[in-house]
Amino acid sequence: MATALTDTTTTVDLDSKRREIVAQAEAAGLRLVRFLYCDNDGIIRGKSSGINGFADRLNTGIGLTLAMQAFTMLDHLATVDGMGPVGEIRLVPDPTTFTIAPYAPHTGTVLVDMQTLDGQPYAADGRAFLKRMVDRAAERDLAILAAFEPEWSLARKTGEQFDPIDDSGCFTPTGMNIAAAVIDDIVAALQSQGMQVEQYYAELGWGQQELSISPAPALTAADRHVLYRETVRGVALQHGLYASFAPKPWGDQAGNGCHLHFSVWDPDYRTNRFYQQAAEYHLSPLARQFMAGILNHLPALLALTCASVNSYRRLQPQMWASAYRAWGPDNREGALRVASPFKGHEAESTNVELKSSDSSANPYLSLAGVIAAGLDGIERGLALSPAVTVDPHTLDDAQRKKIGADRLPASLQEAIANLKRDDVLLKAMGERLATSYIAVKELDIEAFGQQDDAFEFRQHIYKY
Ligand code: GLU
Ligand code: MG
Repeated sequence: MATALTDTTTTVDLDSKRREIVAQAEAAGLRLVRFLYCDNDGIIRGKSSGINGFADRLNTGIGLTLAMQAFTMLDHLATVDGMGPVGEIRLVPDPTTFTIAPYAPHTGTVLVDMQTLDGQPYAADGRAFLKRMVDRAAERDLAILAAFEPEWSLARKTGEQFDPIDDSGCFTPTGMNIAAAVIDDIVAALQSQGMQVEQYYAELGWGQQELSISPAPALTAADRHVLYRETVRGVALQHGLYASFAPKPWGDQAGNGCHLHFSVWDPDYRTNRFYQQAAEYHLSPLARQFMAGILNHLPALLALTCASVNSYRRLQPQMWASAYRAWGPDNREGALRVASPFKGHEAESTNVELKSSDSSANPYLSLAGVIAAGLDGIERGLALSPAVTVDPHTLDDAQRKKIGADRLPASLQEAIANLKRDDVLLKAMGERLATSYIAVKELDIEAFGQQDDAFEFRQHIYKY
């Protein structure tokens, strides 16, 4: 894979990049540029800069109350020491992420780092967490290639009610024709922002779509997932449609996964370190250790990758969403699926998919958690459990117990309790991020615990 896969933030002259995007914004007649981030509860938020002063704000950033990383998806403020009404951080753009938004008039977007007033990375910023994990891998001469593979549902809204746009079948041209106009605009909008579409089809659920984009180095992959969510929802709205990335928008339909594909490479992305020609499923010892690390931490890692109360409705057996701590070749019921490589492209296409992942997660946190867990597997030389080549739900309890194929946590509450006991993940996140993250999730758990199912569906369907 000799393509231009580099970590742009370390290879680009940021000052000249800033000048370049100011010129681009002016030439395109932009009036506003949105400074966007993804918060601890997986919600994309931001503030806009007017075009006057954009050049300045690229350096100074825009001010944000410290409290926002204690904010929940219900816009409730969790109680976290030092995250109240007093104090500010700065949203400072990463100029390599600038795009012109095809779904909002005269508008650009740029993704930001959270910084303290003296320009240091803010300890509760998820993007900083991912950068740290990328650096930690780099210390071992390893680079992570990743792709978020989102499923989402198109809906119409009548009053307070969201209804799927069709009742078409899985992979049917019927479904693709019904959505063709909006999909065409979405593909164009993604391409114009540098995201290349790999595959598209109408998925199993009513109104459900799956459209994947190319893999990229970890930070870029997470950045793109934020831009992707914004783009799909923004373009859908131009068609009078609502795109929902909620893990389970409707109780009786297939859930929306966001399977996370990953492989580990040499720093120049020329050699896939997961691949070993003669090994079982072509999996190198390094790949097996990385996977073992993920399975080892999975009960806690889920708090980062399946991050909403609604996530756990999706993780049911025999829904192809994963419900067990198991792995297998092309096994769509295990948490980790080893994707079968493509003939003639075995070395570059060998990768592993975490199925227990959805778009209510903050992609920086989920991918950083995956890397932290995988690297721990490498550091401790963990052994991988045996491959499961059947639906793990069809095994009996004793068989599952023997291979460690436990049922995954059944609620966010369980996953958060596990995270609070997982020192490796807590340490990787750092105290500020871990404390604020857990406080946010615990406030959600409490708030939804006091309400009925209808409230949960209504509150998730158009937040993500
Ligand atoms: N919709 C399934 C999920 O929730 C995935 C179906 C598939 O693509 O295998 O993850
Ligand atoms: Mg799918």
